[in-house]
Amino acid sequence: MKAQSQIVVKKFGGTSVGSIERIEAVAERIHEDLLSGQKPIVVASAMSGETNRLVGLAHEMNPRYRGPAYDMLLASGEQVSIALLAMALEKRGVAAKPLLAHQLGIKTDAIFSKARIQSINADRLLDVVGAGVVPIVAGFQGEVNGQITTLGRGGSDTTAVALAAAIGSDACEIFTDVPAICTADPRLVKNVKEIKTLEFEEMMEMASLGSKVLHFRCVELAAKFGVKIHLRSTFEKREGTWVVPEGEGMENPVVSAVTHDASTAVIKIFPVPHEQGYLSKLFIALAEKNIVVDIITQSQNEEGQRLAFSISEEDVPNAEDIVRTLFGEDIKVSVIKDMAKISTVGVGMKNHPGVAARFFKVLSDLDVPIHLVTTSEIKISAVIDRKNLEKSANGLHMEFTLDLG
Ligand code: ASP
Ligand code: MG
Repeated sequence: MKAQSQIVVKKFGGTSVGSIERIEAVAERIHEDLLSGQKPIVVASAMSGETNRLVGLAHEMNPRYRGPAYDMLLASGEQVSIALLAMALEKRGVAAKPLLAHQLGIKTDAIFSKARIQSINADRLLDVVGAGVVPIVAGFQGEVNGQITTLGRGGSDTTAVALAAAIGSDACEIFTDVPAICTADPRLVKNVKEIKTLEFEEMMEMASLGSKVLHFRCVELAAKFGVKIHLRSTFEKREGTWVVPEGEGMENPVVSAVTHDASTAVIKIFPVPHEQGYLSKLFIALAEKNIVVDIITQSQNEEGQRLAFSISEEDVPNAEDIVRTLFGEDIKVSVIKDMAKISTVGVGMKNHPGVAARFFKVLSDLDVPIHLVTTSEIKISAVIDRKNLEKSANGLHMEFTLDLG
């Protein structure tokens, strides 16, 4: 479909709609955009804290349950915020329509709680805009066979980019409570700097390595459809960070950012039985439960084969069940919680040797033991004890941001 230039998808995150006053402020901003000639399509998250509260309720009921009821519960937060935002706009004389995923034909696969969008009925959305009404779309949710699905935590970003792609926009605005993407999480690291531009590849690594600023799938979709993402503050007018295609970034530093994931767990198994097929059996069983396995290391010596892999801490109960059923009494399985993954990311690493050496030197100077390591062309990650996260993040940030001057 042809790009509809004055139509702009704008996503507002949980803190931006976190209270009645904030929803009013968002409505003001949308109203101003309308007056300046834009035709906004709005996507909203649940009010801040709400999805966590719902996850907590589900956990109390049954920590192992994943399925339609879980998604229905979690999706309810967005229904509240879009309805309130539509009311705030109507109060200002702006015609607005709150829309749930099924009303827009946002179809997903049937992987509950981690669903992927498969198609969107863009015409329905454009009809609303064409009628002079502001669509206010519930982020984070989709529909499969008449049932509500959710896209994974942080998934409203993905809804926004998917809508932008569906209507043929080349950019999408993500409004949040920080003015830009920073060189590290400012809650953990001192003296962080704002990043002006990042390439899709870097942002994808950062999102998959634990940066919560943008949802991984949102960046993946943006890269696929060439939708630039402008991440900016809800509370300020200035520009934030642009996430752009390869080569459109500015001068690339060696390391663009230090990223962490504070909810990592490691499972160690020793000795893995010699019979063929044990590893595939294990990883198939984990995949069937939709558990994403991150770093895997395997080593063999005369005592046997040692396996270690990392997963997200929320998947520990299910992963532990699987591992303990699969391996008998003679095999030692240890589940180590309270771990964290710390990473440095940057497309500049492709052309600069010695980044790994500096990375390991920082951690060893700080006496931080490393449990697992993995690298790619543009990142180095290490799994460490969570208690060492803060000093490691600060140490690495200091080491590499020196390059930024
Ligand atoms: N409300 C959902 C969450 O907290 C989706 C989102 O905010 O993007 O994960
Ligand atoms: Mg978010």
